[in-house]
Amino acid sequence: MKKTYIGYSTRKTSQAEGIPGKNMVENSAGGFAFAIDDWARLDRFLILGTEGGTYYASERKITIENAECVRRCIAADGIKTVDRIVEISDTGRAPKNDPALFALAMCAGLGDEKTRKHALDNLPKVARIGTHLFHFVTYVEQFRGWGRSLSNAVKNWYQEKSVDDLAYQVVKYQSRDGWSHRDLLRLAHPKTDDPQRNWVYKYITDSLSAVEKGDIDQPSLIVGFEAVKRVDSAKKAAYLIKEYGLTREMIPTEWLNDPGVWEALLEKMPMTAMIRNLAKMTNISLLKPMSNAARKIISELNNLERLKKARIHPIAILSALKIYQQGHGERGSLTWEPVIQIVDALDNAFYLSFDAVDPTNKRWLLALDVSGSMSMGTIAGVPGLTPCIASAAMSLVTAKTEKNWHIMGFSHEFKSLPISPRQRIEDAMRVARDNNFGNTDCALPMLWALKNNVEIDVFTIYTDNETWAGHIHPCQALEKYRQVVGIPAKLIVVGMTATNFSIADPNDAGMMDVVGFDTAAPQVMSDFVAH
Ligand code: CA
Repeated sequence: MKKTYIGYSTRKTSQAEGIPGKNMVENSAGGFAFAIDDWARLDRFLILGTEGGTYYASERKITIENAECVRRCIAADGIKTVDRIVEISDTGRAPKNDPALFALAMCAGLGDEKTRKHALDNLPKVARIGTHLFHFVTYVEQFRGWGRSLSNAVKNWYQEKSVDDLAYQVVKYQSRDGWSHRDLLRLAHPKTDDPQRNWVYKYITDSLSAVEKGDIDQPSLIVGFEAVKRVDSAKKAAYLIKEYGLTREMIPTEWLNDPGVWEALLEKMPMTAMIRNLAKMTNISLLKPMSNAARKIISELNNLERLKKARIHPIAILSALKIYQQGHGERGSLTWEPVIQIVDALDNAFYLSFDAVDPTNKRWLLALDVSGSMSMGTIAGVPGLTPCIASAAMSLVTAKTEKNWHIMGFSHEFKSLPISPRQRIEDAMRVARDNNFGNTDCALPMLWALKNNVEIDVFTIYTDNETWAGHIHPCQALEKYRQVVGIPAKLIVVGMTATNFSIADPNDAGMMDVVGFDTAAPQVMSDFVAH
């Protein structure tokens, strides 16, 4: 028989071609996939960002693609775009806030009048600290000038804060990106009848000597901040830290190698700072086995309420874990001996930092794309945290909740990955890293289950969706599995890069896309599988 009429099939189509009748697009690897819509891509952008690019696209190229997507969302429905940005940023679902600040800046510059107003009204919800505000003004200048609405929004950012919070923002986040509070106040001109607030504004715009005099009740944080500049011993610095609640940013660097100073800082240290400074505090011997400081930190890391309130993202914990456990920094000469219970506490905090998940008691196949392309780029700009390694950590979250699961890796072949939530996360990530190469065939998890007659309720595939090497599309392989095995199995695609591709057929209600490292993803997955 001649092959002329063989190969054009709706049931088995090479990944190098689209499925007849389905609306598919060519992915970056030359295979064909479905395209997610702009709103789903907006979510991927807001959560994953584009730092570090991908295997297929430079950071610049993928950033432009995503910015174009944001622009289309703004044109389609600016208010909805702003609301989505606010929701994802304000609930702490994204590891980094920069994509949200950038997208909000686009809304404030490129939207229609209502959208621009809505974006600027919501500025304090997205720009929650001084550094965010500095980033925002840098971004917004790429899309508009300083009209009255923008300067009003910045003015309101300052005016709506209590005097104490204002003082905190001013001395903790002094400047960034070439912007300082002084610059912004000169553009925004906030005015007030409140003498204390007025004093703070003058403190920001003029030198302290110009405002020192008078009988104003100065915010204590500023009093402490000015006093600690003049101390001549670490002991006095530590005293002022406790007395005025000063943070690390407010302390002259010459005192930042003293254990007593760090002990004082630790008393009221914000959780984000605590997680970031574990290495430093261990290096100066404040954190050592059996110490009070170590015990305090371990207890805080196990405190669900504090983790949630501080909006600690699992990626921040993974990043800290990775560095802390290795005992030396990525750059520089700082070394330390990790306290093993702190490593354990970070491991536990990683699971706690996702939204709580109800177990479904279904049978889960957790399939990690370990092909070569997953080894490039980073999640949220964390050095070394590739999509492949991050997938391993993410899969453990479901494995920890569920009873019936199997974790596998695939490229152009099936690989068993001996990882489990009973292991340290770092060990699991190492297994993924060591098995990371090969071509991509995202149909393999279904084909493997079919061939071996394994009963699966849900195939969860962690991937960049750049499938191309297979003879059958993943959704066709799933359909075949459902028919042959007789289980109405579902497919969840956990997207690990901010592209618009997916292997999930949007017209099949049994398939769904979620964004990798969305803190809400595990619960969304559980709901989808349970109902
Ligand atoms: Ca690949």
